[in-house]
Amino acid sequence: MAAVSTSKRDFSFELKPQHQPFHANPHVTACKGLTIENVAQSRSIAGPLPLSVAASTSSDNYKSVSCYQHPKAKSWKHRFTREAMLRGPTRLRALATVTANPGLITLGSGRPSSEYFPFEEIQVKIPKPPYFLDQEATKGIAITTGKYDTRHGLSSYDLALSLNYSHGAGSPQLLRFVTEHTEIVHHPPYSDWECCLTAGNTSGLDMVFRMFCKPGDHVLMEDYTYSGTLEAAYPLGIHITGVRMDQNGLSATHLDEMLTDWDTSPGSATKPSLLYMIPTGQNPTGVTQSLTRRREVYAVAEKHDIYIIEDDPYYFLQMGKYQEHAVEKSAVFNPELVGHFLSKLLPSYLSLDISGRVLRLESTAKILAPGLRCAWLTASSEVVQRFLYHQDVSTVQPSGVSQLIMYKVLDEAWGHEGFFQWLMYLRHEYSKRRDIIIQACEEYLPRDICQWQRPEAGMFLWIELQWRKHPLVKKGGIGKQDLEERIFREAVNRGVLYCQGSWFRAGEEIGDRMFLRTTFSAAPLGDVQKAIERLGSTLKSARMKSYVA
Ligand code: PMP
Repeated sequence: MAAVSTSKRDFSFELKPQHQPFHANPHVTACKGLTIENVAQSRSIAGPLPLSVAASTSSDNYKSVSCYQHPKAKSWKHRFTREAMLRGPTRLRALATVTANPGLITLGSGRPSSEYFPFEEIQVKIPKPPYFLDQEATKGIAITTGKYDTRHGLSSYDLALSLNYSHGAGSPQLLRFVTEHTEIVHHPPYSDWECCLTAGNTSGLDMVFRMFCKPGDHVLMEDYTYSGTLEAAYPLGIHITGVRMDQNGLSATHLDEMLTDWDTSPGSATKPSLLYMIPTGQNPTGVTQSLTRRREVYAVAEKHDIYIIEDDPYYFLQMGKYQEHAVEKSAVFNPELVGHFLSKLLPSYLSLDISGRVLRLESTAKILAPGLRCAWLTASSEVVQRFLYHQDVSTVQPSGVSQLIMYKVLDEAWGHEGFFQWLMYLRHEYSKRRDIIIQACEEYLPRDICQWQRPEAGMFLWIELQWRKHPLVKKGGIGKQDLEERIFREAVNRGVLYCQGSWFRAGEEIGDRMFLRTTFSAAPLGDVQKAIERLGSTLKSARMKSYVA
């Protein structure tokens, strides 16, 4: 009988991966990086998907051989917190990966038998690329998934598999698609990158902060950043240090100056080693970092050995510059060639990352549906592994139903090309909305007291208010914070809701500027103009009368 060690993370049995790593296949000799054209070839080399419950898996099974021509990532072990270092594989999850012999009967882990899942079939109806408009729904595809479709040779994934526990990194079915997608879009320039599924960026970020930050640490962020990130970081005892931004996003010069001038004398705050950024269609400012800026920031990160968290939910909503009369021109959606679409996207930090110092969080909230709570991250294997130790005892895995739906839609029904066409469609729709809000701002907002930058990506339009020109402030009656509140209440009274800029302020200091964040993603398209008209009337009314407290 094999002795089972009692030490926490030392398992006496060898865990044998059910799938051999792709690069270990001696027959794979040549393959250029993955493109949508050679996905089928890559899959045939990798072999069929494992169809057992909770099959162990890794992106290594699905990456093209060209990935392994790059050098390996740096090690970040020295940056992991004590909490992260104390984590290890969980005994029962590890047990699920044992495949000693085909006749093995499990009296091991407490996975229920699928015969006790009261779900026989689900159906989803989805649009057929490129007919994404509601009125084209008749051309849609109805996908029915039965409980035992894999057993009956009907599919590589079914309800019995997806509703059971799966591997923490994700089911092989969805992880394969996500890994291929990541390689096609980003081609990470180091070899040992991996993807793993998460329950969304919010959950992923919480765990990543715990992996890299201890109470008292300073984390660098854009001067204004996503309020959810701030709210996740503060209770962990993290201090946030804002880095200035300009029309190209986070300033590489300021970042370098801050790090160079950081007081490292004994007793001072530890020099930051983590930078969190939203490089595309930034939330809340709507700013997108140019390629030059991305290269400059990455160079500063290399110089000061900074680890980067790239939170990029708006990456595929890169709409380009606003053009006059674009609203009339943009009525019809015509997908372009995938290669053309991809070539116009700004490179992500992941795609510039020669050292493996970037952890990229890929949300599906803005490109599929937030309620799926199924997304993914990409980082070096060492970091992903450490992340998974936490995920195993936290969210465990994203919902199996979400994984199943995503696999059925993205892989089986749409394929990579169809998914890219969907992303092109979204970009087209958001461009229309963006163009409408810009036109409305130009028509209805009082330019003498507010300015805005036309967003080229994402879903936010950020407006700066010349708050000192407000009559109440001029009279010396009220301060900035009070005014921000009053304008907000007045806007709500007039029927429009937005977010106050101060909610997104990184760091303690309130600053001398006042902003408000509008989004063109939520309101019905026909109401966006009306909303800006109401906002304009709120701001203009300040000239005539003071807001009532
Ligand atoms: N990061 C940023 C920058 C966001 O804007 C959002 C959503 N507003 C999130 C994370 C949350 O993403 P998720 O729904 O995947 O948790």
